[in-house]
Amino acid sequence: MSLDKYRQKRHFDVSLEPRGGARAALARKSRLQFVVQKHRATQLHYDFRLEFEDVLLSWAVPKGPSLDPSTKRLAMQVEDHPVDYGGFEGVIPEGEYGGGTVMVWDTGTWTPESPDIAAALKKGDLKFQLHGKKLRGSWVLVRTHGFGSSSGKSWLLIKHRDEFASTEDITATQPTSAVSKRLLADIARDGGGDVE
Ligand code: MN
Repeated sequence: MSLDKYRQKRHFDVSLEPRGGARAALARKSRLQFVVQKHRATQLHYDFRLEFEDVLLSWAVPKGPSLDPSTKRLAMQVEDHPVDYGGFEGVIPEGEYGGGTVMVWDTGTWTPESPDIAAALKKGDLKFQLHGKKLRGSWVLVRTHGFGSSSGKSWLLIKHRDEFASTEDITATQPTSAVSKRLLADIARDGGGDVE
């Protein structure tokens, strides 16, 4: 796990996004963080992030998570992000990588359903429990056979059947920030960005 790609893409003198601490500087926590960030860049999408080995493993989910087990959501794996990125809510300046507005749409902790996370990732089948404010219960990320440049990066995010499964369209019914209760447009306005 490395933050090199994350740092190469960004200008930390221009954007308020965190650079990410040195491994040794990060406090060891027994609980693993998860965050879903709603991100209005060129296109609106949701960034699904799971803490593992001092970074946030990250997937861009164009349509966001679905509570309906029959709805599989495409999740394109992107570069690892620093753990403190999970607290970032604000505006990335226009012209910068990912320029646009970022909301902490959901946050909490996650637990793997099998003990060897690295093996599950390698296999392309990671089952886990989410303990968030909006997303709960059992989920899976499954790698698919992508084409060309997306090969190996293409996954599906799927809700398992349990008491938290639902046909509720949660991205529509719960559009506000899990930490500030703001809408994307409020965050954009507060951060001096373009209001949608
Ligand atoms: Mn994004």
